[in-house]
Order: sequence, then C-alpha cells, then structure tokens
Amino acid sequence: MRIASKINSLKRELPSGVKLVAVSKFHPVQALMEAYDAGQRAFAESRPQEFAAKVPLMPADVEWHFIGHLQTNKLKLVLPYASMLQSVDSVHLLDAVSSWCMAAGKRMDVLLELKLGAEETKHGLSEDEIFDIMRRAADYAGVRIRGLMGMATNTDDAGVIKGEFLRMAELKRRIAEAFPDAEGFDELSIGMSSDYRIALEAGSTMVRIGTSIFGPREY
Ligand SMILES: *Cc1c(COP(=O)(O)O)cnc(C)c1O
Repeated sequence: MRIASKINSLKRELPSGVKLVAVSKFHPVQALMEAYDAGQRAFAESRPQEFAAKVPLMPADVEWHFIGHLQTNKLKLVLPYASMLQSVDSVHLLDAVSSWCMAAGKRMDVLLELKLGAEETKHGLSEDEIFDIMRRAADYAGVRIRGLMGMATNTDDAGVIKGEFLRMAELKRRIAEAFPDAEGFDELSIGMSSDYRIALEAGSTMVRIGTSIFGPREY
C-alpha cells in the first residue's frame, strides 16, 4: 500500500508527457509487484545479473530500462529484454550494442549518457563525443538514439544541480537543431528522488525514481 500511494502521488505531480521510471535495483520482486499492481509499467535496473534475474519473474508487459554501467561482455543479459538502454556511456559500448542488435535483428532505443559534474570516476560521454556520435548516427544501424541521460552532481546545492540540468536541456536543443533528421531524438532523462523537481523545471521528459517509491536500498 505504501508503494502504491507513492506511485500515485508521483503520477499526480508529474506533468503529462513526463514518464515515471521506477528504479527498482536492490529491491525484491515483491516490491516491484506492488508497484506493478498500482499501475506502474516502466522499471529500471542498473546491474546486468539482477536485471536478468528479475525479468522472468515479472509480468510480460513490463517495460524494462537499463540505467547502469554495462560492460560489453554482459550485453546478452540485458539487450534481449530491455526496451531502452539509458546508459550508453562510451563509444565502445555504443559500437558493441549496435552490432549486437544488428546481429539479433532488432533496433534498440538508447540514450547517450552525458558526463556531468565533477566526480572523476563517473562514466559518461563528453559533449564532443556526443556530437561525433550524432554525426555518424547512420553507422549505428542497430540503435535508435532517442535522447540524453544524465545524473547531476551529488550535492545539496540546488543551484549547481539546476545549472547542470539546464546545460543538458540546452545540449538536447542544440543537437536537435544541428541534426534535424535525427528520428525520435526527443527524450531528456534527468531527475532522481532528490532532484526530480529541479529536473522538471529544466525540461525533463523522464524521471528515474527509486528511493521515493521503494524506500532506502540495502547494499
Ligand atoms: C539508482 C539510480 C537512480 C535512482 O536514484 P534514487 O535516488 O533512489 O531515486 C536514478 N538513476 C540512476 C542512473 C541510478 O543508478
């Protein structure tokens, strides 16, 4: 009941056209089912093994998103089941995903993950790499590049977060302008439990919310 009421209040709060993606990593299938029974269909996981284990335990009409770092030797755990890979964080991964999908006769919706913030260890693409990819989009016939994903710096400073999200919205606008033929490039996946309201102000089309739905994760 608690999960259902969180889902319902988030849905009331989100403007129409903004998709709620329930981030269910580290939570048991029972919790996911509670969200499912409240009408939630889009779920996201960030670890390949956990993703592959949960998929067959959930109803077939779940729309699965993958949002974690994906190594190219783990593609087969994720790509057969995902409807969107949100975390394309290197050109190497994009190459591998596109080739895998072509061989499998499918076309995967992907988002390009922009490296935001100061943390050195964070994965992600630079703006230059993203423009290069868009220029060569025809080379990646196994994917459809649907937009951008990003995670703001982990800080309490709402001004810093807002600045990063606005920078992403601006990048999306510049790409759409520079590549008017980019088919379906319209998603901006920004906003998590702590910063989704800021993300909505900046033009988010997809929020990825875990803790505010399922409670804290046990690591
Ligand atoms: C875990 C995770 C989230 C959700 O974070 P919460 O703070 O629990 O809402 C969103 N996006 C990514 C990429 C994540 O790994």
